[in-house]
Amino acid sequence: MLRWAEVYLDRLKRNYENLKRFTGHKRIIAVVKANAYGHGSVKVASFLERKTDVDAFAVATVFEGIELREGGVEKPIIVMSNPLFENARNFLEYRLTPVIFDFESLGIALETGIPFHIKLDTGMGRLGFLPGDFQRLTEIFKSPLFKGIMSHFPVSDEDKCFTKEQFSFFLRFIKEVLKVNRNVAVHIDNSAAVPYHFDSLLTHSRIGLALYGSKPSSNFPVKLEQVMEIKSRLIQVKTLPEGWGISYGRTYVTSSREKVGVVAFGYADGLMRSLSGNWSVKINGRKCSVRGRICMDMTIVSLEGVKASPGDEVIITDRELTFDKMAEKAGTISYEIMCDVSPRVKRIFI
Ligand code: PLP
Repeated sequence: MLRWAEVYLDRLKRNYENLKRFTGHKRIIAVVKANAYGHGSVKVASFLERKTDVDAFAVATVFEGIELREGGVEKPIIVMSNPLFENARNFLEYRLTPVIFDFESLGIALETGIPFHIKLDTGMGRLGFLPGDFQRLTEIFKSPLFKGIMSHFPVSDEDKCFTKEQFSFFLRFIKEVLKVNRNVAVHIDNSAAVPYHFDSLLTHSRIGLALYGSKPSSNFPVKLEQVMEIKSRLIQVKTLPEGWGISYGRTYVTSSREKVGVVAFGYADGLMRSLSGNWSVKINGRKCSVRGRICMDMTIVSLEGVKASPGDEVIITDRELTFDKMAEKAGTISYEIMCDVSPRVKRIFI
């Protein structure tokens, strides 16, 4: 095998348990959308269902929910961004709970008898009913189909002041809802909100990133371990002459003879091209710098002073060369890198 991702489920469990020390009485909704942030949603959800007290799962689309059900997942599945003009029947058939954020979907849910959560936009400016819609919603809070109410934080990773104000704003609406119906789930926390200890009236925390071992902010206090390690192999080793350009654009030219290796992993596998010349992999315990531009299927690395042969294992990312470090160097977020690990990189569950 030339490219694979090892998914360490014991680390997932430890991350879950460490996060639970911070979430208090709140039960966990594990966010497993986008193929569990690239880790493999059926395996991740089934594992959490068997080995932890996870209460529910959250996905983005109805098809992600169907995949989980067909994979044998039994616990509630909340579908967060799929309006009901699309595939309403599937919600009933597969026991999926939509998050409702507009009146059209609300009408369909009530008419079809689909249990639902309601989403309020309390400052994210994305999906959700706005404060001005609230009065019109009060009648439906009595409906037996109304099972939960939620919102989402845009800056819990970087702006405490705004986040605390947003939480108070959310609570004002929640208090009104609970006057009518005390039997509903209430959730707003994402990973970055876990250290805030927002407890009042919340029943659940909705956590994605941190479960997979990536830190939502640099000072995140929960001990986490990166769950996925990505590996590849050297497919050629050679010593280039002085003055020899490496890869497209010849952005790197050897200043003397240089031993290099070609790694069977490129941007089509998930190693972002923006990391060209700005990432190191590990081969036989040694760090090897990327030379020149990352190609679609291959990357060239320096092997100066490293004993290596074709077939040797190459570590692209692990608990030391983390997605967090990669994201910082690539000027993006670890979410994007994890989600972009290609399906052609075989997931192996350990
Ligand atoms: N809730 C919603 C609506 C989301 O979109 C996301 C992630 O994108 C989450 C919860 C989980 O956030 P995080 O992965 O930061 O824990």
